[in-house]
Amino acid sequence: MSDRKKVDKCAFCGRTSDQVEMLLQGGGSSICVDCAIRVSEYVHSIFGDEVFDGRQEPKPGTQSCETLNFTPRQITAFLDQYVIGQDAAKKSLAVAVYNHYKRINEAFSRKEAEAKKKKSEAQKVLDAEKSALEALEIEKSNILLVGPTGTGKTLLARTIARMLNVPFAIVDATVLTEAGYVGEDVESILSRLLQAADYDVSRAERGIVFIDEIDKIARKSDNPSITRDVSGEGVQQAMLKLLEGSIVNVPPAGGRKHPEQKMIPVNTTNILFICGGAFEGIEKRIAQRLNTRVVGYGAQEKKGHIDMENLLKYIAPQDMRSYGLIPEIVGRLPIVTYLDPLDRDALRRILTEPKNALVKQYVHLFGMDGIKLVIEDEVLDLIVDTALKYKLGARGLRSICEAVMMDAMYELPGSGRRTFRITAAYAQERISRFAGTLS
Ligand code: ADP
Repeated sequence: MSDRKKVDKCAFCGRTSDQVEMLLQGGGSSICVDCAIRVSEYVHSIFGDEVFDGRQEPKPGTQSCETLNFTPRQITAFLDQYVIGQDAAKKSLAVAVYNHYKRINEAFSRKEAEAKKKKSEAQKVLDAEKSALEALEIEKSNILLVGPTGTGKTLLARTIARMLNVPFAIVDATVLTEAGYVGEDVESILSRLLQAADYDVSRAERGIVFIDEIDKIARKSDNPSITRDVSGEGVQQAMLKLLEGSIVNVPPAGGRKHPEQKMIPVNTTNILFICGGAFEGIEKRIAQRLNTRVVGYGAQEKKGHIDMENLLKYIAPQDMRSYGLIPEIVGRLPIVTYLDPLDRDALRRILTEPKNALVKQYVHLFGMDGIKLVIEDEVLDLIVDTALKYKLGARGLRSICEAVMMDAMYELPGSGRRTFRITAAYAQERISRFAGTLS
């Protein structure tokens, strides 16, 4: 009997058979289907495809995050498979995400434990006093990613959501306006999340939202009384409600709210908001702040440590304020981290290294037609050079690759060819044609 009890519980998350969809048993212990999927994803992240020959990827939505127990190191190891470089951002994100879900887990298990306990009234009073002393609410920490466009901000947020298997929505802050103006209400951010969660409100309430171009809703001036950008500030005020955690009435279809529309109440307390923005010109403000700090005693020494080439790495919340985010929003985005511009080496690695790298995708595409695609190393250099020359960034790599591959993708299927080698000369001809369309 006691043995049976032991087996009836997942050895990883501790949930019992009536709390999970399925409990797999073996070797005197059990694992729930959610933890089994997470373990397999982790093994996959470490050992790659080989150990999973012929096995299917877990279906999105089959995991719950209450039992998430990836460490920050495991999170960065997963991100490394898809995102090149950006180590500082990966580290901050991993810690923030780890703490965020730890906080949710704690609240979840507390609630569960309370529901289970049938206590006497006297015991309840004692417990209430004890928990009032112990209750240390860990505050939610949303994240702000600052860095040039196309350096991996969205990719980082998307990859984290994929790892955790939580609903994920991307919203562009520029389409949002204050209620009453043309554009989308701020609540439509949550409509997208609900859609991503197939309208399962409790899943949406643990999801991740990426708000892109948050810098575009900054006030246009340091001094609000001179050139006050009302709409920008209004959107920021409206967004605050979401970021700080409250119950928001969400129009299921998004867009503008209508009085007769049925609303879905969504609690944003456990939704993680990751904001991104290029914050063009913010380096000047960082430099100003650093300069004022290094004036005075010991100034020379401190100045010597500042890397003037990459000021973004000193970004701090007060720079956001001076850029035009209202203090309340800055307060709700306590974790600020930065992304590096992508240099030649990073672009070259992006072509070949990520799990779904462009080159791997083309090799796979041709492979499906039974054609072995060989791309010479110099071709990759040419592609990177072109992206740099025309300032196309990582996003541009794809269009350059398409230009190089188009003829082959058109002509080779059905041609009976078994191998196709892309040489520098072949690529150069097509890249020159492509470059002609740019200038
Ligand atoms: P951002 O959100 O910073 O503007 P994205 O994350 O949307 O940029 O990046 C655009 C595309 O460029 C991505 O989908 C990805 O293909 C590629 N990319 C950008 N940065 C990286 C990176 N650091 N590692 C791998 N791919 C990247």
